[in-house]
Amino acid sequence: MILAHPPTAEHRCAFCGGSSLHDIIDLGEVGLAGGFLTREQAASERHYPLRVAYCTHCHAVQVTDPVDPAILFSDYFYFSSAIRTLREHFIDYAGEVVARFLAPERATVVEIGCNDGVLLRPIADQGVRTVIGVDPATNVVNSIRDPRITIYNDFFGAAAADRILREHGPADMVVANNVFAHIPDINGTTAQIARILKDDGVFVCEVHYLGRIVQGLQYDMIYHEHLYYYSLLAMIKHLERHGLGVFDVKPIPIHGGSMRYYIGRQDGPRMRQISPRVERLLAEERAAGLDRADTYARFAQDVAARRDTLMALLERLRAQGRRVAGYGASGRANTIIQYCGIGPRHLEYMIDDAPAKHGFLTPGSHLPIRSNAVLAEDPPDYLVLFAWTYFNEIAEKCRPFLDGGGRMIVPLPDVRLVMHPTPGLAL
Ligand code: ZN
Repeated sequence: MILAHPPTAEHRCAFCGGSSLHDIIDLGEVGLAGGFLTREQAASERHYPLRVAYCTHCHAVQVTDPVDPAILFSDYFYFSSAIRTLREHFIDYAGEVVARFLAPERATVVEIGCNDGVLLRPIADQGVRTVIGVDPATNVVNSIRDPRITIYNDFFGAAAADRILREHGPADMVVANNVFAHIPDINGTTAQIARILKDDGVFVCEVHYLGRIVQGLQYDMIYHEHLYYYSLLAMIKHLERHGLGVFDVKPIPIHGGSMRYYIGRQDGPRMRQISPRVERLLAEERAAGLDRADTYARFAQDVAARRDTLMALLERLRAQGRRVAGYGASGRANTIIQYCGIGPRHLEYMIDDAPAKHGFLTPGSHLPIRSNAVLAEDPPDYLVLFAWTYFNEIAEKCRPFLDGGGRMIVPLPDVRLVMHPTPGLAL
């Protein structure tokens, strides 16, 4: 094992710059969750510390040892449009934000991290005059090829903001989906967004929601690609530093729980009408203790308890000579596997529906990834369902496996055993 970054004694908050960080959870030295490996690559795989901390000063939750984005996103082959539920999500999204905030025939919309145009295309379909996408992933933006969409194949920083202002003027709407989780220089990015936004412009920011992670024990959302985790409390503190504020919020069920923040200039017309939903969510967050370090300490204890239950079960099955495999070789699965210490002695292999992953090994644990055809050919006795947020979809797909006496283990939010025809047994 090669340690890329030895732990450092002191970290500063990436948001407020203060030194009030409290360690929440240490997931150990792990292989990068998004990387799938050949046998040769596995032999020289690097490991990185994965620790998350909470800032008592500004409530921001963050990975304390960020990995260079050039390493993290060097093989970025995530095409949003390939996922049907995501495509439908973005069509609804475009319809809502255009109808609510824009006069399409005069409007300019900028999306930061536009991926393959999954949102910009339906925004252009709404008749929006100027549609601009900024994204550094060349192979992904090259797939857009839509004359209605102007692409800046670049990181969103001062240079891209200058160019937008020079060529199109300030924006009526800026959109960022999941970007706020990924971008290391969060203050620099937010400052540039504030720069290009009109006085009555709206910044729509969607990102996975910390409240759901804590409440649902979704520690599998933690990996190096996800640098930052937001509550509304933290989001407001961060935006205030850039003259921005949140005037509305909307919970989004996608990815196990995201939040859409509607943001305007603090001194602009959007902030004169703040939805009661904002105050309600703030009250919920205070009641849930998202502004207290002890809440996160309890989260870490609860997560450790789930790990112990899961590992006791896997060890028991191993002692009984049962054959066990995993389902869903995602980044989320890799966090569970590496944190729990699951290895080839517990799981024979992983199954994934994406053919691009077949024949590769999972990071850290080096489990072979196979297609779900194996369930019919040579089924294991048990399947650990790592893609547990898609339980219904996968249980339906695996019905013959369950009908044939196969059993499923759901790892979160509580470890439970599923067998046909019993819907679920608590452990
Ligand atoms: Zn802070």
